[in-house]
Amino acid sequence: MELATRVMRVTPSVTLMIDAKAKAMRAAGEDVCSFSAGEPDFDTPTHIREAAKAALDQGKTRYGPAAGEPALRQAIAEKLRNDNDLPYSAENILVTNGGKQSLFNLMLALINPGDEVIIPAPYWVSYPEMVHLASGTPVIVQTTAATGYRITAEQLEAAITPKTRLFVLNSPSNPTGMVYAPEEIRALAEVVVRHGLWVVSDEIYEKILYDDAQHLSIGAVSEAAFEHTIVSSGFAKAYAMTGWRVGYLAGAVDLIKATAKIQGHSTSNVCTFAQYGAIAALQGAQDCVAEMVTAFDQRRERMYTGISEIPQLRCLRPQGAFYLFVDISQTGLSSVEFCDRLLEEAKVATIPGKAFGMDDHIRLSYATDLNTIEKGLERLAKFVAKL
Ligand code: PLP
Repeated sequence: MELATRVMRVTPSVTLMIDAKAKAMRAAGEDVCSFSAGEPDFDTPTHIREAAKAALDQGKTRYGPAAGEPALRQAIAEKLRNDNDLPYSAENILVTNGGKQSLFNLMLALINPGDEVIIPAPYWVSYPEMVHLASGTPVIVQTTAATGYRITAEQLEAAITPKTRLFVLNSPSNPTGMVYAPEEIRALAEVVVRHGLWVVSDEIYEKILYDDAQHLSIGAVSEAAFEHTIVSSGFAKAYAMTGWRVGYLAGAVDLIKATAKIQGHSTSNVCTFAQYGAIAALQGAQDCVAEMVTAFDQRRERMYTGISEIPQLRCLRPQGAFYLFVDISQTGLSSVEFCDRLLEEAKVATIPGKAFGMDDHIRLSYATDLNTIEKGLERLAKFVAKL
């Protein structure tokens, strides 16, 4: 069958292979330790669930405006003003089916065939594929552990061509757990403004920070930076709401109108009563977020110490999100071989770095309980020792 070139350029997910295998092993009764989850293992906090249940009972079960419930757009704008120093109003907000749809709609609204989109590697697995689906060209800029896997202003500048349209910035980062320092964000903003680029700042992990890491949105650096910034975020990670599918895009009114048009002809509004849960998430007490971050922090320490004690593995101490990005180059295996054998021989599920554009690394998620972390680390250490 002859398929559209658009879809032919999309790479099948290497993570799916490992995931399918781990699931099949579990179904067969095997005891698999999973470090592959990209989601908090907590339940959505009670007050958020209650708000969605009340919305159901109040009949919030019908079609709503494609751009989102006005009360949620307003609440998101207030959150961005108060938490992030970004002067948005409700009309600057599009409510989307998760952070994923917000980025996808943005690519469709902004990218013309051949436009270049600068993506630092390692990157979140879907960025390049979204650019492909929008008929754009991803321009991958490799970073290294020496800069904390963060793109420098010089690297960004060197990657810019007359075709560059957009730069994708993700801090805290999936898969590395690194957080850009405020002075690094300022330096990147200067390049973005000087070259008249757009930057999309994916801030979905902004609440999950450790030690003295600070989150600065690139749009808050200056009025000029704000004019060039689009923010993508969502409720999945901070409020353990992955299955709710609520996210948002914030940007200039024309852009938001364009993305609302796309959404109006594709998915329409996000599940109406789920949006009322999201309002409660923003307007309710934030202790639930702090409690989850405290638990993640404890697991981070255990996971980081455990990995640091394995001689052939190296990793940086994560500053945010819930991932550890581990350099496996000393083992001589590719990331797919390493993850495949680790699963097969030691029953530990991890994600190959190849999915994130770095084949000599693997990603471990510590969004799981401490017992699983202990057991998985022990198995991982034995596996590596035998290689
Ligand atoms: N951005 C990053 C960096 C992510 O890791 C994810 C999910 O894993 C998303 C966006 C999309 O999240 P969701 O669509 O679940 O809101």
